Amino acid sequence: MTSPETNTRTPSEFDAGTFTISHFSDNPEGFEFETKNAIGRTESLQEDEHLTLDDSQKDALKSAMGREMNFGGAAMVSEARAAWAQARERNDPEADRFREAYFEIRDSYIGRGKKIGLRALELTGDNTLSADVQLVPYPVYNVLSDPGMSPEVEKLSAATGVAMVVETSDGRLVIQHRGVKKQKITEPGMTRGNGTYADIPGASVAGMVDASLSMDGDRVPGTPDPIDTDFLKANILKETGEELGVAPHDIDGLRIVGLAQDHYKPHDEVLFLATLRLTADELREASRTSNRNKNLADADFEEKFFDIEGSPEAIETLLTEVKCPLPPTHAAAMVAAGYSMVVRESGAEAAHAWRQRMQESVRRNYEDINATVASYYEKYPEMLGHIPERYWGQKAPARHLEGYSPAYTPEEQGLPTLQDEMVRTGLMPETRKEVKKAREYDVDGVLTDPREKIVIHEEIFDEIVAQLERGEPVCFNTGRSDSWVMERVVATILERIQDTSVLSNLIIVGEKGGTWTTFNQNGEPVHSAVETISVPSELKNRVRTLINDKYSDVMFFDESKETMISVEMVDGYDLTSFTERQKEFVRDIQSILAETGTDSIYRIDPTTIATDVESPNVGKALGSDRFIEFLKSRGIKADAFETFGDSASDAAMADELVRRGQEAEFVYVGNKPESVQRKADYPVREVAGFSGGTLDFLRR
Ligand SMILES: [Mg+2]
Repeated sequence: MTSPETNTRTPSEFDAGTFTISHFSDNPEGFEFETKNAIGRTESLQEDEHLTLDDSQKDALKSAMGREMNFGGAAMVSEARAAWAQARERNDPEADRFREAYFEIRDSYIGRGKKIGLRALELTGDNTLSADVQLVPYPVYNVLSDPGMSPEVEKLSAATGVAMVVETSDGRLVIQHRGVKKQKITEPGMTRGNGTYADIPGASVAGMVDASLSMDGDRVPGTPDPIDTDFLKANILKETGEELGVAPHDIDGLRIVGLAQDHYKPHDEVLFLATLRLTADELREASRTSNRNKNLADADFEEKFFDIEGSPEAIETLLTEVKCPLPPTHAAAMVAAGYSMVVRESGAEAAHAWRQRMQESVRRNYEDINATVASYYEKYPEMLGHIPERYWGQKAPARHLEGYSPAYTPEEQGLPTLQDEMVRTGLMPETRKEVKKAREYDVDGVLTDPREKIVIHEEIFDEIVAQLERGEPVCFNTGRSDSWVMERVVATILERIQDTSVLSNLIIVGEKGGTWTTFNQNGEPVHSAVETISVPSELKNRVRTLINDKYSDVMFFDESKETMISVEMVDGYDLTSFTERQKEFVRDIQSILAETGTDSIYRIDPTTIATDVESPNVGKALGSDRFIEFLKSRGIKADAFETFGDSASDAAMADELVRRGQEAEFVYVGNKPESVQRKADYPVREVAGFSGGTLDFLRR
């Protein structure tokens, strides 16, 4: 995380750089809250000359406000009003009911998307936080809350969040796991995820303070209702219901333990601590069957939260040792919760000492995280341009050369995964099955003979079957279609196994990561393809016609491909003449791409015996990514990976594994070892002889 300028307007008792905590409660019941003044709308955003918005900021704000209006249902309000007017015209006896419906819809529209911002906050008496309250439309906060903005903009845009730490009745802390949107791998579709701060731990519950507007006659328009302690508690309880699926009567001892300021996306956060009347297991059960979650697949649900020991020591480990950073205000909630626990156990003095020590170690941990990210980009500069799948086809957020960026997962910027960190620091037990070796094979020239295109060394099948039977994961990573691999390789494996459940250790990654097939416990294939990158049929038809007209003697269209176009050399054609004709073919394809305006969407990849038209996001590295995600979804942890290839470009398999923190080596079985260029540091074993070399290595 970068360290924006520290906000000095509210003096802080705890300063972690990206967040400060201005108030900690020493009272076992927590703070009270009261409103000094509710402030109405005075100047509009566009007219205020103190606001230094540039044109792009104004545009972003305008479109965000437009989206919010649609989302909030402006059209529904006018429809309801029209329905009421018509009912009156036709003297409908039910007109009153139309009137009621209109007011209900209007009020809910007016309140929707409106948040509260606290201003001029101070401690009055020894235990009451008091502040002015002001309306902040959510899009204004979302678009304009940025540390680079002027204090005038911040006054308008800073909303107030709420974050809570929940302790279960058996002494566990509920930690949110903020999921990342990614392919499910062993079933079709993508998981849900958070846009920012994904695959990191968070407070148990978090949200924003919703405004209420009771529309009383003589108030300045846009004046929110004053808020108090009960209002804030009701707000966090509503969030708790939505996020954890527990009812208010399951919550005990709810209290405001602090107030924090986020300096990364400037806003205040009210911090809560509560005890649950349920154990961690009971919470899991309640949450699993709640309305919000009951339709979630297991894979989505399990990522939502986990639990750690409920002690100040565990909080210390989470915030000072785990290298997956919590969002600033979530970390603040943890600090304030730990402080409150120490107050209850050992008194305020001990809590002050704990807080002091934590401040230094929390800062140091953020510095460590940033240093790791910076050295990762120094070592692997190519990753600065790498676009994770959830951003394909969009403008990907910028990465930060100097440190952690919340738009990317820890793993995408050189940090360990959350699961690895929780296990390493002892906060969670290891639940994955550990295996010694996972193996990733290119297919053409590694398993099959480069000329005959079939497996000629049958003993390779015995080796792979033995690996699968030992429970060692196997990946075929190829540009071929899944169906091609099924016919030429997997069909024979199937004949040689007794128990088809061992196929659950196998993944075929085809079309350079665009498609893949896994197998369920009954050995039945489960196939997935990334439709968003698929070459449109219009383009395919143009290429088919081109081949018919000019190239049918040299090459043919591979109809088995789903996401890419592959045009392969006719079997037995002379390689030198193919290369000549291929140059002309590539030029023709380039003009088709230019004519159809798709030259920036697809890339042409001419290889020795084929020409591919494909998404620039696919490749052997994506195949390794699929393999890693496959292991995660199977709950397997491999000590080391062996990768096998016969082309220089196959080194991308091991490059990706090593960049992701795995131990790997590359077994090169081709005949031009000098051409292998590694992007990461790992051993390269040279065993010439194509599939014969593969067999020699496996049997050594
Ligand atoms: Mg090959």
